[in-house]
Amino acid sequence: MTGSTTLVNPADETVIGEVPHASADDVDAAVARAETAQRGWAALAPAERAAALRRFAVVVDAHVEELAQLEVRNSGHPIGSARWEAGHVRDVLNYYAGAPERLLGAQTPVAGGIAVTFHEPIGVVGVIVPWNFPMTIASWGFAPALAAGNAVILKPADWTPLTALRLGELALEGGLPEHLFQVITGRGSVVGDRMVTHPGVGKIVFTGSTATGVRVAEGAARGLKPVTLELGGKSANIVFADADLEKAAAAAPGAVFDNAGQDCCARSRLLVERSVLDRFLELLEPAVAAFRVGDPRDEATEMGPLVSAAHRESVAAFLDDSARIAFRGTAPEGPGFWFAPTVLLPERGDRVAIDEIFGPVVSVLPFDDEADAVALANASEYGLSGSIWTRDLGRGIRVARGVRSGTLSVNSNSSVRYTTPFGGMKASGLGRELGPDAPLHFTETKNVFFAQD
Ligand code: NAD
Repeated sequence: MTGSTTLVNPADETVIGEVPHASADDVDAAVARAETAQRGWAALAPAERAAALRRFAVVVDAHVEELAQLEVRNSGHPIGSARWEAGHVRDVLNYYAGAPERLLGAQTPVAGGIAVTFHEPIGVVGVIVPWNFPMTIASWGFAPALAAGNAVILKPADWTPLTALRLGELALEGGLPEHLFQVITGRGSVVGDRMVTHPGVGKIVFTGSTATGVRVAEGAARGLKPVTLELGGKSANIVFADADLEKAAAAAPGAVFDNAGQDCCARSRLLVERSVLDRFLELLEPAVAAFRVGDPRDEATEMGPLVSAAHRESVAAFLDDSARIAFRGTAPEGPGFWFAPTVLLPERGDRVAIDEIFGPVVSVLPFDDEADAVALANASEYGLSGSIWTRDLGRGIRVARGVRSGTLSVNSNSSVRYTTPFGGMKASGLGRELGPDAPLHFTETKNVFFAQD
């Protein structure tokens, strides 16, 4: 162990704990334990692995409230959201508990015998997650990886390790073999880096910033190690003049201010057809004012504080004198890393309209027609998520196909369903998580030819 991180409740700035930093040697020891555990796990009958994952899900279900309360204290998530997140982990485990018995291979017609493919587990998988959705994002990695017969080492983000640590304990309570699923806390530059470079770790799933993701990919490339990368975003919420403007405006605050804008899928660019811009802003202003920012323990709260003082500083730095603020919502005064929801009316080239702010700040940008909307949506290095609001079905199809993003919705702002693939294009990532194929991304395809004579 090499030092520790003091954990702070973002809503009131009280100290809630201290978490040790593991060393590179600790990672090496964890990998050695994981390799042994993985061999035993892969040797179990598929139905036994499925049953073990279902038992893990049952234990998570019994601890949804405890996990949610931990997330409220550690991350400042509103209790309603935190309960959903813990329930989502259970659902993801249940969904992938179906996978061990469904990792189907192919039999290919060939001369002189039969050719059969097998989906072999990779071995030890490293899952490195950010602080914005600590348990859900972790589960997108560990559940399908375990289902495919791997061991998992999970590294939570420095500021938000508590739910991940608890999930590690609950896995054991549910009966997963010891050391099959290990949670290691510590610095990204030490623990994360060692996971990336350790020859015993066969794959890295990384979620975080694009800059760190590139570094992870470089490190993994040296070991010829596959990576899945879920990175930053600057997603567009495109509202056409023919849309149900009331509905689009009522939904727009949630699409960007949910989790205080600390959401890779946040629709932080609100593109509005110029002919309805004034009307849309008239509808948006009361919706932003009504967005309830406050004590995350309160069931009615829609948005809590930012995760840390340092992060609040980085968000606030975007609102310098040049920022053209249209209007703002409210936020509590006093202790806590509060930041009021903010609506900007920048020029297209302004920094706030281009960079990922990762806070409750949205840039409203007018566009002229369908072609301009698609071009503006695509004028970003990112391509993770986005929404299209229109009553014209053909336009909905054309624009959805034209926007270079991995996860879009039409007349809705939903992004994540564990049953459908999720991930980004361009600087938003590489590979996909979730959906029915996710376990295959944690396997190596092997083909075996059996001669008949
Ligand atoms: P970050 O890149 O700073 O850290 C992410 C994780 O990587 C942390 O656990 C960190 O400790 C670790 N890390 C840091 N340096 C490392 C290194 N050299 N080697 C290996 N691991 C290292 O990101 P963050 O600030 O925690 O999260 C915010 C970012 O995550 C935003 O850009 C956001 O858009 C992105 N994000 C993306 C998705 C997605 O699914 N696309 C989801 C959530 C968050």
